[in-house]
Amino acid sequence: MLNILIFGPPGSGKGTQSLNIIKKYNLIHFSTGNIFREEIKKQSKVGILAKKYIDKGCLVPDKIVVDIISKNINSKNETKGFVFDGFPRTLRQAEFFDDFMNKRNTPVSLVISIEVEEQELYNRILHRAKDSDRSDDNLKIIKNRIKVYKKQTEPLIKYFKAQDKYWPINGMADIDTVFNRITNVIDNYIENK
Ligand code: AMP
Repeated sequence: MLNILIFGPPGSGKGTQSLNIIKKYNLIHFSTGNIFREEIKKQSKVGILAKKYIDKGCLVPDKIVVDIISKNINSKNETKGFVFDGFPRTLRQAEFFDDFMNKRNTPVSLVISIEVEEQELYNRILHRAKDSDRSDDNLKIIKNRIKVYKKQTEPLIKYFKAQDKYWPINGMADIDTVFNRITNVIDNYIENK
């Protein structure tokens, strides 16, 4: 199985590049953000709870995230692999996830981290806000999402590096160029497996 984590701050292009990757390598896209947005639309219990955090630009509590992951992955056994987008975002989630995937004998293969300068993150999210109907794509909330990323998610880089699975990619380019950089890493992994 090919299990790829796409890592990076809000606005780095994780969603866009995840869609490119799943198309090329025939994988399943697994975005916790998308799952929460669907739950919000359905007005489910989880959706109503998650919305309180999402609308403030805060992280949804680990317990809720971890339950969503276990439930959704176990229902999709017949796949060549997954692209995980926006997960894990805390050390607790990362530790849970490694344990979970190792027990299924489907460990994480690669962590691909899209690196983008901070000012560019604001430009991209504010640009996206024109078309997205995301309640968290506005300046005040974006500021908090980036602050939360730095405090709670960025420390995971050290965790991934220690596992020798961490591949930083320069994300300061157009979508195709960044995708090319990503496929180089994935193809290299597949060839040397
Ligand atoms: P995203 O679409 O990945 O930018 O996620 C949108 C929002 O959903 C985030 O700002 C968080 O509030 C919430 N969220 C998504 N994934 C997670 C996660 N793994 N842990 C906690 N909160 C999350």
